[in-house]
Amino acid sequence: MNATKNKTALDVLRKDDRIVIAGAGGFIAGALTRYFHDQGFTRIRAVDRKPLPHWYQRVPGVECLSMDLSEKDNCIRAVEGAVEVFNLAADMGGMGFIERFRVECLRSILVNTHLLEAAYRAGAARYFFSSSACAYNVTLQQDPHVRALKESDAYPAMAERGYGWEKLMSEMFCQEYTAERGLETHIARFHNVYGPLGTWDGGREKAPAAICRKVIEAKESGKHEIVIWGDGTQTRSFMYIDDCVKGIDLIMHCDRLTATPINLGSGELLSINELVDMAEEIGGVTLKRKYDPTAPRGVAGRNSDNTFIRQVLDWEPATPFGDGLRKTYAWIEAQFQDRKAGRPTVREVY
Ligand code: NAD
Repeated sequence: MNATKNKTALDVLRKDDRIVIAGAGGFIAGALTRYFHDQGFTRIRAVDRKPLPHWYQRVPGVECLSMDLSEKDNCIRAVEGAVEVFNLAADMGGMGFIERFRVECLRSILVNTHLLEAAYRAGAARYFFSSSACAYNVTLQQDPHVRALKESDAYPAMAERGYGWEKLMSEMFCQEYTAERGLETHIARFHNVYGPLGTWDGGREKAPAAICRKVIEAKESGKHEIVIWGDGTQTRSFMYIDDCVKGIDLIMHCDRLTATPINLGSGELLSINELVDMAEEIGGVTLKRKYDPTAPRGVAGRNSDNTFIRQVLDWEPATPFGDGLRKTYAWIEAQFQDRKAGRPTVREVY
């Protein structure tokens, strides 16, 4: 695909412009921090409420602040001098987390509310919000053979309880700050992101990481069994992390996408059973499958309709799932072995 006409941060910013990335101790914002750093941006401020030793990556030369962005004063401090603000801070996880902790998910609205206002008052040129496919109407996702979700499917609204409603409301905040106050905002609806340096255990991990870990555990224990949440027929698409950070850059710097939510996801749909097949193949093992119908399974099917992003950017996330899963599996296996050997599991990259 020819995406050369698209603008990126390199076309729009000076190398010493201040870029603020919220949630940078986590998976996607950590990767975004590294992406901008590797392009030569020199004044990146990374912010997360986690203590610094718990960040998934810490990038050399980046200012790292550990602060809770649900507090207004911390948001004001975080965006001082910012030209661009990327909000990827949210209390979130896979289905096991977002179905159980709806209050925590909803409370992330405080982060976006304060950060957006602070960015506006600080005179930032652009603001990015990481929304989610969970903002879509759940009644359109009750069949594993769903048609892919297009941007207009968010309304009439019937978002995922808790997490999805927080995303939808925060999107609206961004849109109204553009309409009423002239702050340029950009909104991407991510569809399941996976890759190395993502969450792989502890209850917040998503399906690709969870399945890789379970396959590795089964191999290690010699107990060749795997428990699958639901009946395994539920379908999803998964976007590799490198596609995600590239997409964020393109969406943030596309004038046509001001205050216009857009899907950022892969259009390659597969069932959880197919995901297990692929992880087994990578692991070189066949496992007895046990299905847990009582476990959280989320909607029956969800895919990203990429018509709009192809039309506007002439680009879409295109890493084949098999390639990305192989890299993810290898990284999780290394983490697993580190843990077994008593070494720290989250690799800090200095
Ligand atoms: P993550 O959990 O790895 O990162 C989120 C980070 O936000 C965490 O490090 C967390 O400590 C931080 N955070 C939470 N509350 C905070 C607060 N009050 N103050 C400061 N920091 C706070 O998650 P991720 O996968 O990197 O997701 C990043 C963004 O993308 C989130 O907004 C998420 O909702 C969205 N998203 C992710 C996916 C996905 O598949 N990973 C899918 C759709 C949307």
